[in-house]
Amino acid sequence: VRVVFDGLLYRGAAATREPAVVTVTATGLRIEAGGTAEWWRYEEFRQTQGAHRGEPVRFEREGGGEAPAVVVDDPAILAAIAALGAGPAARRFRPRRSLARVAMAAVAGALAAGAALYLWIIPALAAVVARRVPVAWEEEVGRRTTDLLAPPGSRCDDAEVGAALEAMLARLQRAQPGSPYTYRVAVARHAAINAFAAPGGYVVVFSGLLEQADRPELVAGVLAHELQHVEQRHGTQAILRAIPLQLVIAAVAGDVSGLAGFAEMAGRLGSLRYQRGDEAAADRAALETLRAARIEPRGLVDFFRALEAKAADVPEQLAYLSTHPRTADRIARLESALDSLALTPEPLMSEQRWRALATRCSG
Ligand SMILES: [Zn+2]
Repeated sequence: VRVVFDGLLYRGAAATREPAVVTVTATGLRIEAGGTAEWWRYEEFRQTQGAHRGEPVRFEREGGGEAPAVVVDDPAILAAIAALGAGPAARRFRPRRSLARVAMAAVAGALAAGAALYLWIIPALAAVVARRVPVAWEEEVGRRTTDLLAPPGSRCDDAEVGAALEAMLARLQRAQPGSPYTYRVAVARHAAINAFAAPGGYVVVFSGLLEQADRPELVAGVLAHELQHVEQRHGTQAILRAIPLQLVIAAVAGDVSGLAGFAEMAGRLGSLRYQRGDEAAADRAALETLRAARIEPRGLVDFFRALEAKAADVPEQLAYLSTHPRTADRIARLESALDSLALTPEPLMSEQRWRALATRCSG
């Protein structure tokens, strides 16, 4: 701490002004001006200026109008007194922050608290609650969300396509021991090369994906990825993050009754998004599921390549949880994971059978 400061000493009725050297000590200030030094004990003077930013610091000796005063431009003298001065008298000179700075600090604090709430606290709570939400509740939310986003009238109800997709999901699920879900798959008539999963095991595949897939393994790769979003409860977490905090707290306490309506509303608003990291986690686990199910895993990479090549975008109201960021590094990451994945795949079906199925929901 710097203890020596330049200042000006004002003295007498005429307030003559002299340059002064002010030294901060434990008991007071030593003020040297015009070749003589005087001591001001902390009990003997008060601060009359310098509480605000940009203002010089002014100390006045007790004793009325003609009492001497010393002015120091550098507000660091207050910090020096705070650091060195002993006793209650010295503490009267604690440096004060300007109102603007106090307000800024308050705003910054509130923003930081809000950011922490949204970045860490709500996601952390959502992850905790999502593990405790009953599967029956997830199924209810998943069914309602799917009906809302891919209404029955917009679906392709082809029994053969449905059976083929369900068989794929069943084979994947068998490779996922302990799964509590019953998977249901619907095909939505839309050109998007995409799919999404709602909580509880509801999977929606767009007809564009079936049409553009040159082999069933590509669809199985996407299904494995969606299955992982369900198993890891990413969609349930997304819903929990989007709803008011008091409902999350109620859910922590075991009351999940308020959640369903909000999930529907959030879905309608298209505000549900997976969290950063969910996609990579689903990709990683999907490859493992494909390996365990003995399904040729390159299909998942080829799906992302197809997305990159033909970016038929998902309609606004279906943006729900179906954004699969198609980035080069995602493909690269999958490619390198594939290199270390050894397996002898068993085909899902013959080429002819797939060709017959792939276009049954088109047009
Ligand atoms: Zn995904």
